[in-house]
Amino acid sequence: MIDRDEMEELFHKRFGQVPFKKEFFFSPGRVNLIGEHIDYSGGFVFPMAISLGISACVSFNDSDIIRIFSDNATDEVHIDIKKEIAPGAPVWGDYPKGVIKLIIEEGYSFKGFDMVIKSDLPQGAGLSSSASLEVLTAYIIFSSILEESKIDMLYIARLCQKAENMFVGVKCGIMDQFAVACSRKGFAVKLDCASMAYEYVPADMGEYSLIIMNTNKKRELSDSKYNQRRDECDQAILELSRKYGEKALTGYTLGQIEEAIKDPVIKKRCRHAITENQRVLKAVESLKCGDIMNFSNLMIHSNISLKYDYEVTGFELDTIVDSALKQKGCLGARMTGAGFGGCAIALVIKDLSDEFISEVSIQYAEKTGIQAGFYTISSDDGTRKVY
Ligand code: ADP
Ligand code: MG
Repeated sequence: MIDRDEMEELFHKRFGQVPFKKEFFFSPGRVNLIGEHIDYSGGFVFPMAISLGISACVSFNDSDIIRIFSDNATDEVHIDIKKEIAPGAPVWGDYPKGVIKLIIEEGYSFKGFDMVIKSDLPQGAGLSSSASLEVLTAYIIFSSILEESKIDMLYIARLCQKAENMFVGVKCGIMDQFAVACSRKGFAVKLDCASMAYEYVPADMGEYSLIIMNTNKKRELSDSKYNQRRDECDQAILELSRKYGEKALTGYTLGQIEEAIKDPVIKKRCRHAITENQRVLKAVESLKCGDIMNFSNLMIHSNISLKYDYEVTGFELDTIVDSALKQKGCLGARMTGAGFGGCAIALVIKDLSDEFISEVSIQYAEKTGIQAGFYTISSDDGTRKVY
């Protein structure tokens, strides 16, 4: 989290006034412990919010313009709330714009305001900076601008997912926005993406640290093969539903996939969705009874499935995960987020964490020529007003 004084100073320098009611907001990133690429296939996921995220201050500006300045970007975003809101430069503005457009379409009206954000969360790294920014925008509008007394975080999560789907054009599932909006410090959340039923599970890793390894290989989700995977799953559902009736992809059995799907690539995608879903349920039970060994094994198998069946890893992620698994004290490692670059996570004995980070850093740089980033993280609460 960025220091509150630093944020107020940034706000004053940019917009020449102090933030409204001296409020200060924080929206976390998230890491998914297991259950990758199955939120949009109706599966279970197991994410938690992390202590890296986006901080913000806000104030009214007596106009019909919303101005958003990000200390992590060059161009300021301007939105005229009296005019049709459309996507456009700067690209990063599409995330808050999409959210604002949907809130207005829901029938809410408000005046222009200024907002300053600054983030310590890497962007485009699979830690959901996009959802963090969307949920932050919606939360600030409902809590500070509209002064609603009761904020429905699940409603905000859905609205933000819709904004990313329709306005930004990334067909993401509900996991990211849900994890950012609804997480609780000390817990990971088991979420059934089909029914939206969820359960908070203590994220106690015992004598192990959860380390995020950022490959620093950049990707933009909208440019990646993410949407292609979604289309492949849609194709599978079309064929499966003809034979076995309509369900979420994770609801079919491996036997039914074998029978109904002829294309070997689509078959692999389905196999990942179904086996990954089973792994999540086992992983949650393992964590509940403190069986970190089994939890780690499931992480390793999840990564194998993402590498060979879903094919969303790539050279950099494979290199960093392989290197991590070779280190003393590392029980398990896997890619996290959408893949194609971005981050992986590892469970490492606390006392050996420093040694782990320096060894993986050297080996990864030797093979890829890229300097990786490392964060030893803890769980956090969802988007909130800090002061
Ligand atoms: P991820 O969600 O994994 O970080 P995405 O590609 O979905 O990756 O979203 C990253 C994009 O979100 C960035 O390229 C940028 O457009 C926007 N974004 C996130 N955080 C910020 C920020 N602090 N300032 C400006 N834009 C941001
Ligand atoms: Mg994202």
